[in-house]
Amino acid sequence: MSANKPDIVIVGVGGAGAVLAAKLARAGMSVIGFDAGPHRDSSKDFASDELSMFGELFWLDERISAGRDPIELGRPNSGRGVGGGTVHFVGYALRFHEDDFRTKTVDDVGEDWPISYWDIEPYYAEVERFNQVSGPMFFPWGSYHGPYPKRSHFRACMHETFQLGCERLGARSTAGPMFIISSPTRDRPA
Ligand SMILES: Cc1cc2nc3c(=O)[nH]c(=O)nc-3n(C[C@H](O)[C@H](O)[C@H](O)COP(=O)(O)OP(=O)(O)OC[C@H]3O[C@@H](n4cnc5c(N)ncnc54)[C@H](O)[C@@H]3O)c2cc1C
Repeated sequence: MSANKPDIVIVGVGGAGAVLAAKLARAGMSVIGFDAGPHRDSSKDFASDELSMFGELFWLDERISAGRDPIELGRPNSGRGVGGGTVHFVGYALRFHEDDFRTKTVDDVGEDWPISYWDIEPYYAEVERFNQVSGPMFFPWGSYHGPYPKRSHFRACMHETFQLGCERLGARSTAGPMFIISSPTRDRPA
């Protein structure tokens, strides 16, 4: 790489672009990321209050897709700015199920993927470790049942009420794995 010319330029450093930029930089490449929105500081630019953040994080601009038969994309409330959708997503760290890759075979819907769950399983594990995902000791669905790097969040009374309702109906329920960490790590507050 010359002094002024990076190896890689990434346009849009949201959930995918930011991870890619970090991975490439750690592999020794010089990377520049551009984003249409601001780079917020999580220690001062966020309030734990939906109303005051409304309009700050949401990205409601018109979406345009290309091709001969462009799809009308609507205005999903994705995030605008460094971090993209992850600046205000729910934070569930769910894995796809094995059958999600074989919908044609299993349900006769869409097409089967050319890769299987097991091809990407090591990356799920890496992302969960890196993000210190907080989840239950035993997660009942899918191919991975835990444990997760950190314990689940404590449940509030609304969760207890939901669980009681599920028990009465004979339905299984559990806390989900979350990207929001349940206790501090060396470089991140809980
Ligand atoms: C409300 C909500 C809740 C969600 N909850 C979950 C959840 O619980 N668990 C989960 O796994 N996923 C969840 N998701 C989905 C997840 O957030 C997205 O799948 C993920 O962020 C997509 O990553 P991406 O990099 O493809 O796109 P994005 O994260 O949207 O990143 C796109 C980036 O590109 C930038 N950009 C766009 N146009 C330009 C341009 N012209 N020039 C420069 N930069 C540009 C944007 O500012 C943005 O930073 C949720 C999404 C939403 C909206």
